Amino acid sequence: MNLTDLENSWINQFQQPLIIAGPCSAESEQQMLETAKRIKATHAQVPIFRAGIWKPRTKPNGFEGVGVIGLNWLKKVKEEYGFKTATEVANAHHVDAALKADVDILWIGARSTVNPFTVQEIAEALKGTEKIVLVKNPVNPDLALWIGALERLLGQNIKNLGAIHRGFSTYQKTKYRNNPNWQIALDFKSQFPNIPILIDPSHICGNRTGLAGITQEALNVGYQGAIIESHYNPDEAWSDASQQITPEVLGEMISNLKVRSTGLAGFDDEMGRHRTLISDLDFQVIELLSQRMRISEKIGKLKKENDIAIFQPDRWKVITEYAAQKASETGMSQDFIEKVFKAIHEESIEVQNNIMINK
Ligand code: PEP
Ligand code: MN
Repeated sequence: MNLTDLENSWINQFQQPLIIAGPCSAESEQQMLETAKRIKATHAQVPIFRAGIWKPRTKPNGFEGVGVIGLNWLKKVKEEYGFKTATEVANAHHVDAALKADVDILWIGARSTVNPFTVQEIAEALKGTEKIVLVKNPVNPDLALWIGALERLLGQNIKNLGAIHRGFSTYQKTKYRNNPNWQIALDFKSQFPNIPILIDPSHICGNRTGLAGITQEALNVGYQGAIIESHYNPDEAWSDASQQITPEVLGEMISNLKVRSTGLAGFDDEMGRHRTLISDLDFQVIELLSQRMRISEKIGKLKKENDIAIFQPDRWKVITEYAAQKASETGMSQDFIEKVFKAIHEESIEVQNNIMINK
């Protein structure tokens, strides 16, 4: 059986968009119950409550999750407020504990998806489960790893599968915590239109302001839902404080989402898909130009300190020749590329001129 053969009818038990919400981490019974109560009180369609029990942290000595005790709190959330529950599992021990505590939905985190040994261990521990298992994209932009992880699960006869797009790490800091890199997720979606995909705007944005925009964008290209971090007191959260929102803000955000169509049909909107890709590329072009200008500034300072003229004809010749060569290699008009580079160069000279003038 291949991933393309899966029906994944599990998604049909939920109204779309399917929203999974709850705190980044379980911190205390009170925090879990209070957050659940307030999400419930918004009357937003949130059938699944999330909370991280074991937290993968980039550096040691941070809060690494409360561990198994938090599973009891998830159970209470289910009993008292009727949510289904979801948590991240990163090894066989987590799987055993989560299955024993009857967590409904398990997800594999971005740092685990990168590691085939880890994914294999989790898949074997889950062998044959009827639970819904969601796989986050790996932290690095590698579509094959993401697909590979789902194949390992299917290899252990796990068939209720889904994907979560949480963005990709970049060394250069951008406005995103994790760059959405829509192309990869949309390639995934084109290859596996039968696998439900959810957006994780919280880990893409890393802040509270961008969440609604990213979520709407995902719905526009046919995603089935979102997993969003919500905490009753976000500023005091023990992990990912800057991106968590109150249940009330979450409720408001959900009520403003426009569902363009239900099911997978929205994805047929080719125009929306292309526009998303264009916006993504425009964002990257602007980021790159801004990085280029910052380097240009540094060169301006060096030139100033060493009394060197801003315009260096030899260097400009190297740049234009390289651009012309790349234009022909990539099948673009040399004329066009020359215009673009002249504009960039002019701006660069302007930036350096300002440095020279400013004492
Ligand atoms: C999380 O969902 O809290 C989490 C740790 O996410 P990710 O694996 O995407 O970093
Ligand atoms: Mn988090």
